[in-house]
Amino acid sequence: MGIRLRGHHLLCLLGYRGMGYSAGFTANMTRVYNELRERPETPIEIVKGPDALCACFPADVEPHCRNDSVAKHDERILQKLGYGYGMVLPWSEVIARVRDNVVPEDINTLCYTCQWRSYGVCEAGVRLIKQGERLPPLPSK
Ligand code: SF4
Repeated sequence: MGIRLRGHHLLCLLGYRGMGYSAGFTANMTRVYNELRERPETPIEIVKGPDALCACFPADVEPHCRNDSVAKHDERILQKLGYGYGMVLPWSEVIARVRDNVVPEDINTLCYTCQWRSYGVCEAGVRLIKQGERLPPLPSK
């Protein structure tokens, strides 16, 4: 039912600018991102463990999708947003909840374990949402 997403990926999508673990991973994430950008009423199902983005995690990169540290990361973010596993809601509701519950600087504490945090794109993504913007178009390659 809807696009299955785990907790931390709700924020990763806000900062997605076309970077990722492999060409296959980014092609899939781009498809999901554009679907949510173009159809914000698309239903999201919040899941525990691997989701629609993990599905294309490359086989030749050290796997982490089932690690406890990643599960804890999901839980920190779901707690911040006031969401739980199994909830189904439109993506636009996630955007509204981020606007109300998250500030850009929260990325530093919520995502302190993440290798992508230093790029600053996720903080910038939250900032755009706080300014009332929707997901922006992806940069052209
Ligand atoms: S810092 Fe990492 S985990 Fe957090 S939103 Fe960005 S990419 Fe996702």
